Amino acid sequence: MLEVRELDAFYGDSHILLGAQISVKAGQRVALLGRNGAGKSTLLKSVMNAGPRVRGILRFDGKDLHGVPTHQRTRMGLSLVPEDRRIFTHLTVAENIAMARYGASPTRPAVPVADIIARFPMLAPLQQRYGGQLSGGQQQLLAVARAMAANPSLLLLDEPTEGLAPIIVEEMARDVVRTCTEGNVALLLCEQNIWFARRCTQYVYVIDTGRVVFEGDWEHF
Ligand code: ATP
Ligand code: MG
Repeated sequence: MLEVRELDAFYGDSHILLGAQISVKAGQRVALLGRNGAGKSTLLKSVMNAGPRVRGILRFDGKDLHGVPTHQRTRMGLSLVPEDRRIFTHLTVAENIAMARYGASPTRPAVPVADIIARFPMLAPLQQRYGGQLSGGQQQLLAVARAMAANPSLLLLDEPTEGLAPIIVEEMARDVVRTCTEGNVALLLCEQNIWFARRCTQYVYVIDTGRVVFEGDWEHF
């Protein structure tokens, strides 16, 4: 479904991805690992047209993505939770989640909102309920729940466990796997937490200074 070949990505004159190759099949859950600054987020952003300038092969469901704007990619079934997550505090939790639905395709079944978010009070504006401040971890949970609510066919998660308490990391792993399995959602996950990545995915790519240096299943990692 996602095919990235010989992909170069640039920020201005900085050449960040150097011929990166990855592919994700329908329903497959894939981890993208690598050191800080290796180019993982750049790859996810390239898939969404969210920053870098790119050159090379970038296809989703057989369609060439070059020139396709981000909102159109969302309609095609791509959904990204970026490193900087946007939560709107004048809205309620329910509204923050519902915002994602413009991207939902009527032909795809509804995926239940993650358990993990179900314990938030859904209907009070966040700024009333929390004085405008959700914790970093709460914002993260909400951003992931919103991305899942868009019923993507490929979910792109950029460091979803960053700053989360270990018990929540475990719950999130369960939620992500369940949501992806039930909805036949593919996953491309950038993650530093190897335990979480192993739990959530079936296949691994390692990227180093803009190049893929390993690919295989976890047994060979
Ligand atoms: P991390 O694990 O720390 O999130 P990463 O693998 O996601 O790292 P990227 O964010 O893709 O790394 O960054 C790859 C390189 O691109 C880094 O050298 C970084 O400095 C550079 N870079 C990232 N964003 C920009 C930007 N907006 N403008 C210019 N350079 C950038
Ligand atoms: Mg990153």
